[in-house]
Amino acid sequence: MRKYSPKSQTVSKNRSRNLNKDQRYGLWPGSDFGHKKLRAPPLMNLVFANRKLSFYDTSSTPKTKEDNAKLTQRRHYSMRPHREQEQRNAEDVLFDMFASEETGLISMGKFLAGLKTTGIRRNDPRVRELMENLKKVHKLNNYETGSSAETQHLNRETFKAVVAPNIVLIAKAFRQQFVIPDFTSFVKDIEDIYNRCKTNTLGKLADYIPQLARYNPDSWGLSICTIDGQRFSIGDVDVPFTLQSCSKPLTYAIALEKLGPKVVHSYVGQEPSGRNFNELVLDQNKKPHNPMINAGAILTCSLMNALVKPDMTSAEIFDYTMSWFKRLSGGEYIGFNNAVFLSEREAADRNYALGFYMRENKCFPKRTNLKEVMDFYFQCCSMETNCEAMSVIAASLANGGICPTTEEKVFRPEVIRDVLSIMHSCGTYDYSGQFAFKVGLPAKSGVSGGMMLVIPNVMGIFAWSPPLDHLGNTVRGLQFCEELVSMFNFHRYDNLKHLSNKKDPRKHRYETKGLSIVNLLFSAASGDVTALRRHRLSGMDITLADYDGRTALHLAASEGHLECVKFLLEQCHVPHNPKDRWGNLPVDEAENFGHSHVVEFLRSWAEKADLSNEECNPEAVTSKTQADEEICSTSDLETSPTTSPIPTPVESGSRAGSGRSSPVPSEAGSTASVGSSIDDKTKPGL
Ligand code: GLN
Repeated sequence: MRKYSPKSQTVSKNRSRNLNKDQRYGLWPGSDFGHKKLRAPPLMNLVFANRKLSFYDTSSTPKTKEDNAKLTQRRHYSMRPHREQEQRNAEDVLFDMFASEETGLISMGKFLAGLKTTGIRRNDPRVRELMENLKKVHKLNNYETGSSAETQHLNRETFKAVVAPNIVLIAKAFRQQFVIPDFTSFVKDIEDIYNRCKTNTLGKLADYIPQLARYNPDSWGLSICTIDGQRFSIGDVDVPFTLQSCSKPLTYAIALEKLGPKVVHSYVGQEPSGRNFNELVLDQNKKPHNPMINAGAILTCSLMNALVKPDMTSAEIFDYTMSWFKRLSGGEYIGFNNAVFLSEREAADRNYALGFYMRENKCFPKRTNLKEVMDFYFQCCSMETNCEAMSVIAASLANGGICPTTEEKVFRPEVIRDVLSIMHSCGTYDYSGQFAFKVGLPAKSGVSGGMMLVIPNVMGIFAWSPPLDHLGNTVRGLQFCEELVSMFNFHRYDNLKHLSNKKDPRKHRYETKGLSIVNLLFSAASGDVTALRRHRLSGMDITLADYDGRTALHLAASEGHLECVKFLLEQCHVPHNPKDRWGNLPVDEAENFGHSHVVEFLRSWAEKADLSNEECNPEAVTSKTQADEEICSTSDLETSPTTSPIPTPVESGSRAGSGRSSPVPSEAGSTASVGSSIDDKTKPGL
């Protein structure tokens, strides 16, 4: 794939004239949908949405009748609050990106396939309105022949109306602003690991109850859900299985949420037991070691019965608990397997022994009905689910207790922190120490072959494969976890900055390549001076331009962001007069869109600049000074020192004679050393 880097920009600009529309919009041959590939970030041009005509239509020349009409329309937009305007433009850019040149219509099939590559599925609750609107439009069009609601072709206005309710999420997806920006590449690596694990036939099925012994040992499913709700599933992800020990962190979370850690941990410890999960042993305080082993989980169940909901009947507590699990899973499949429950209760000598042993040692709260507690424990183990639903639960844990797909706040973040801490040290039975060492992530396994893995602030993963190793952990699930962290820097103690032999899928491709022009121009267009400061202090070339020769100054001027314009000229010393490929200067932009205050400022600046022949010190743009550091630490432009050569009325009064030296605006720019330098923009054809 062609590199998008500052050095290739001159070439790219020449090439951009010959690109077909799909290529210009970021669609390249060889992708998974419609034989096209999204060149990331596909909607990076959203930032230029106000100039989409000139940006996309390379043959257009400004100031035609049509352009004038657009400009008038744009002027109207510029009266709106920025965010609304930006979103409005996002809809247009999306349309331009996917619409067919011949028909002028957008194929919704192609659009939804594009959305899927970002990890957003059609059944995601966050695009429900979009999908409903599609059905409505389809109906209104009398179910036009040949196409379904999801594959119909829409015109611009209809498309905009259809996507409008969910545009924030959709724009975020196509701007690659999710936690895993390049989801397609990430998924390919995951598929490779999945396939390697598939060939592993080691391990034995649990056989203490017949239902578990009957599982197909070849079953192997893996589901991922990120904290932004990006989904990926492969293998047997819809096959139901019982939660077993994977229910333990969830009931523990409910107890923590309702009772707080002090109360809960006055009954149960936080230490790994170093013994089997069902061993008849208590810690030195005569408490179960932790809530992840059987004794601790039985005790948590007693807290639910006696303290959380003392007035509820057993049936009500079951429903109540299930509703928590369901909310965590974003409403995905949580059921109950009665056969497993009955078998668990039958084959439970050890668990009963644990219960009696704890009762003898006065571990339970007063009013505990042991029989009810034991039944409740078996019921929790016998709740049924699948990989898909469990990946959302894991993602809710990764997301501080907020379900990523429904955005419902289920648990408080402190609760989740405590749950993850215990999972980290005690989640994989007697393998927990090694798991913490090798994988370095919180996880919980269960005898039905499940492995819930949480990558805090990134994603939840659920692996299911029934064959277990001698410690009771799923063999394929374990292999998956270990391979995952050897490929990606997800281990808690991987150094994110300096470790070079692992991938970081959280990083944006363009960040990785050190190219932040999209961010720079976006910051300018949205009037974000603080972000501009960060760009400057990171040593970035603030004079960079896009394919059409549009610089941060063009964008800030056309959007009427005077503060940004001032910052760019005064602090960054960018040239005030770069020309874009149509020969427009920033001042022309400000004028075209009616920002008279910006026009005034730019004109006075130009006059001053014309009077001065002094060169700007190139160091000034990229090197940090103490003043820069100070500026950086303040987010408010008003508080930053001004060095403008053009005194504002206030300045002329209060700041005159303050002794601050004014940098001299440079004609040539100060760091235009790369292929995108301002001079290049004025070459014929660029
Ligand atoms: N039902 C199982 C038991 O209590 C759950 C244990 C597990 O998954 N490790 O024995």
